[in-house]
Formats: sequence, structure tokens, C-alpha cells
Amino acid sequence: MSDKAIIFDIQRASLHDGPGIRTTVFLKGCPLECLWCHNPEAVATSRQLFFYYDKCTSCGDCAKVCEDEVHHLTDGIHTIDYDKCTFCGKCVEACNSSALKITGAEMTIDQVMAEVMADLDFYTNSGGGMTLSGGEPLLHFSFSMRLLQRCKEMGVNTCVETSGFASEVHFRKILPYVDTLLFDYKIAGSEEHKKYTGAPNEAILANLDIAYQSGVPVILRCPVIPGINDTVEHFGHIRDLDRKYPNLKGIEILPYHNTGNNKRTSIGTRETLAELGTTTPEVYLKWLVQLKELGCAKATIG
Ligand code: SF4
Ligand code: SF4
Repeated sequence: MSDKAIIFDIQRASLHDGPGIRTTVFLKGCPLECLWCHNPEAVATSRQLFFYYDKCTSCGDCAKVCEDEVHHLTDGIHTIDYDKCTFCGKCVEACNSSALKITGAEMTIDQVMAEVMADLDFYTNSGGGMTLSGGEPLLHFSFSMRLLQRCKEMGVNTCVETSGFASEVHFRKILPYVDTLLFDYKIAGSEEHKKYTGAPNEAILANLDIAYQSGVPVILRCPVIPGINDTVEHFGHIRDLDRKYPNLKGIEILPYHNTGNNKRTSIGTRETLAELGTTTPEVYLKWLVQLKELGCAKATIG
């Protein structure tokens, strides 16, 4: 089993990724590429150079130290050949404006567990624990499995946040080590799903069924994106799942926010849904009312 994975963040005292106070471990790498993803740095499995263009003073110090000719400054304009970066970190050290960072670091299970266990008292007092997120935790099956096993050995409650896009075999194997599954539900039709996420959804829906039938508590998490799935028809599909799976622990609406586009620019990938602003409370509360009127009583805003 793999003892290492690339982690791009560990958030302590998290309150939105399952019950109680949690430590959320974000694994780098996802097989989907949803247009609305607010963590685009989670998609690639490798480390990445992150450039905060608004902090850059065009001093040129990064270009002086980079041996791989990644940074170019012409007439005060800073351009970056992201593909050439070898993640040596020299430019990050040289930049006095904190305009650069390397996102993602290889960590062992022991290193992650040391961070998780630091907040054990908070978990005990709040009913919290560790949440494995990403990226897609199932993409790193061996690492995720072992980390979850270690948590169970140490008496730490576990949540896994998943797109459900994983092999059935892996999915079945991981479930015994999961206390709560946070399962994304994006779009009902497989063709539409593929159009907006890059993959069809038959395997995802099959894994949702496996998870539900296993008895592991499942919270359905539903990103709602204006112009894509903010329709009564889609809300009806969510309601239908609620009827099909009456013991779902929760249904959370995740309103769109556009923080992902700044990050896309920072890691050198194209913007998506550039014209779309963050959803206002007026709009997402209206969605909530619509869902409840359709009969989806347990819907909440996530
Ligand atoms: S060292 Fe930092 S501030 Fe200077 S050009 Fe490079 S990124 Fe910009
Ligand atoms: S991390 Fe190293 S290779 Fe990458 S841009 Fe900075 S100095 Fe160049």
C-alpha cells in the first residue's frame, strides 16, 4: 500500500466537512474536471507553481534564480512557462512579495496522522474527526485506505468527500472505514454530466447505490450552478433521490462561488464560467424553497 501522497492543504478546525470540528485533508488529483470547480489546483496529481499576479511588483528576482527559464519579464509584464517548472522552490524563496508558492507537498501517512492527532481533544468534545477530501480521495485508493484505517485504529471519526467516480471494487473496500460519506450529486443525465465534468455518471450513481445500501450514513452534496443545473427539473431529480434513499443523512445545496477562476489564472490554466458571479443568498435561498416545495424536506445550504 502506498505510504505517500501529494497533499495540497490540511485545514484544521473545519466546520463544514462533516459533523463536529474536523481536520480536512485535501489530496491532489481528480479524474473529473468540473467547469465550476473552486479548487482547480486539486485536479492535477503533481505539484504546481502558484503565481499571485496581483502581488507581483515585477522586480525580476525570480527570473534571476530560476535555472529552468520559467519566469520572463518583458516591459514589466511577467509571464510564466508553467510546464518547465521543476518545483525547486528557488523563486519562491527569492520573492519578497509572497507572489509565488508551490502548491502540493508529498506527505507520508505518519506525517498526516501527526497533524490529524493534534486536534484529538476537539474531535472528542465536538463529535468531529478527520475528513478526506481533494481532489478525489479514491484516486489515491491505497493511501486513503491506509489513512482511514489508521484513524479507526486511533478512534478518530472519519468522513470521505467523494465525487463517486471510482472503481466499484475500491469503493466497496473503503466503506467499512468511513463513518460518514459526503457524496457529490451534480447532474442526472449522463451526457450532460460528461459535458460539464468530463465523465459520464453511470458508475457514480452505481457507487451511490452501493454506499447507501451499505448502511454508511450518506450526505448528498449538490453543487448548483446558474445556467447549468439551477432548474426545477434538476431539483426534481434531487427530490427523486431523496425518495429513493429515504435514510440519506442530509442533502446539502452548494451554491456556486467563483473563487476558482483566480486560482486558474494563478496556475496557468484557462478560466471557466468567467462571466458567472458568486451566487447571492437571495438566489440560493430561493433554490432551497423550491426544493422544499418539491418535497425535499431535509435540504439545507451546505
Ligand atoms: S520575485 Fe516575486 S515580485 Fe519579483 S517578479 Fe518574481 S513574482 Fe514578481
Ligand atoms: S520552482 Fe524552481 S523551476 Fe519552478 S519556477 Fe521556481 S525557480 Fe524555476
